[in-house]
Amino acid sequence: MSTTVTPELLEALRRRVGGIVMLPGDPGYDEARLVWNGMIDRYPIAVVRAATVGDIGPVIEFAADTGLPLAVRGGGHNVAGNGTTDGGIVLDLGSLNFVEVDAPTSTVRVEGGATLAHVDAATTIHDLAVPLGVVSGTGVAGLTLGGGLGWLTRAHGLTADNLLSAEVVTAEGRTVRASAEENPDLFWGIRGGGGNFGVVAYFTFRAHPLPAEVYAGNLVYSPEHWTGALAAWEAWTRDLPDEMQSIVSVLVPPASWELGDEHVMLVGFAWASPDKEEGARVAGLLRDAAPPDGAVVAPTPWTAWQSGMDELFPKGSRAYWKNAAFDRLDAEVIDVLVRRATEQTWTGTAFDIHHMGGAFARVPADATPFPARDARFWLNVYGFWADPGDDRERTAFVRGLAQDMAPFATGGQYVNFMGREDVHDWHAQAAAVYGPEKLERLVALKRRYDPANLFRLNHNIPPG
Ligand code: FAD
Repeated sequence: MSTTVTPELLEALRRRVGGIVMLPGDPGYDEARLVWNGMIDRYPIAVVRAATVGDIGPVIEFAADTGLPLAVRGGGHNVAGNGTTDGGIVLDLGSLNFVEVDAPTSTVRVEGGATLAHVDAATTIHDLAVPLGVVSGTGVAGLTLGGGLGWLTRAHGLTADNLLSAEVVTAEGRTVRASAEENPDLFWGIRGGGGNFGVVAYFTFRAHPLPAEVYAGNLVYSPEHWTGALAAWEAWTRDLPDEMQSIVSVLVPPASWELGDEHVMLVGFAWASPDKEEGARVAGLLRDAAPPDGAVVAPTPWTAWQSGMDELFPKGSRAYWKNAAFDRLDAEVIDVLVRRATEQTWTGTAFDIHHMGGAFARVPADATPFPARDARFWLNVYGFWADPGDDRERTAFVRGLAQDMAPFATGGQYVNFMGREDVHDWHAQAAAVYGPEKLERLVALKRRYDPANLFRLNHNIPPG
């Protein structure tokens, strides 16, 4: 039951926080209500831009007291649009982006609103890196809480696998530490269970040695070579050192990439080791098996590599995503992927295939809620486009490709690669993501930390 929100009540909220409280009509409100996905067009009652982590507790309390929906926003990149809400409160942590690197212990403390760019910029000067995602404006918070796939997944695991501890503000407004030693149940839940259990004020990560310049690049294939390239890539991925991470993408590149205006397949790779000659040798095996039509490969500054895809995904892009873990990439599966990929003709992407395994696969299945540790590949069917008039057609494309791949899916889904759906049964949806056993554990945790489901604007784990 929600309280009527009066101007006095909002004035009281303003007095309780150090950050700016933006109401409809205020300067900045129209920008502040928006998130990265331009299809999400919502009007919150207020957006609170936290000035310090001390603002988190009062906003949680305000939402609990009034019964208003509470959207927590880190980087605002969530494709389902969970960083904003109609008729509720947005807690925007975007100004809380402090990053502290302790080089001697290779640990990195990160405030709850930092983006990947903030972390990479701070770590690379120490020749260190935390495994993160591949687009620099993404929020560390959402990325970590859902899992975190990127160019270091095979070398060092998910972002969540490298979390050492977190300071979490709970639904009761208490700050608790979660780590292997303190509140280990909560620590388990936040490494894949999303923002269901509280607001993370600080994350502490383990960082790994990585040269400031990495051997990385893209092999470019035109459509007539896609079938052969995918078959060769599948064979190549069977026996790769963990240091080699590769992601296959089909996309129509932006003009500035000078790759033409037709769709291409890119086999992107990054070699997470200082031994560039060995990286070139390993990449050369694929080049020999499937000679590319073009290649852009060179030692590249890590921060440039991490932001190299940014231009393709400007804020306000319209997006709808689906994903699946799968093991087979034989002729039948390749046929499906190639047939669908040739339909993609607009600037943006058709799909990514992440090669899994390595350190990711060595984390025991029950160590985190993240599903399908044994999957060889993860498919992200991700549509991006600019014109609202294309919404129906582009969304249908994503659904169609995901549907055709469904027979090959091995189970489990990645919450961070899920778009907005009209979900009628959250329990069933969460079961499809995590599987019944992990879901049972997550529900027990939710009952303990958020029995009233205050944190429900997410891929929700219902307590009841
Ligand atoms: P937000 O919308 O701010 O938040 C996402 C979710 O986390 C919401 O439910 C929110 O309530 C919750 N949340 C946010 N901050 C906090 C906090 N401090 N405490 C508690 N809960 C919080 N994923 C990958 O794994 N690898 C990639 O390479 C990758 N690339 C991407 C590229 C683009 C262009 C986009 C749009 C997304 C990408 N993603 C990737 C997906 C991304 O991980 C998710 O969209 C993720 O939810 C983004 O986190 P955020 O903090 O930016 O989002």
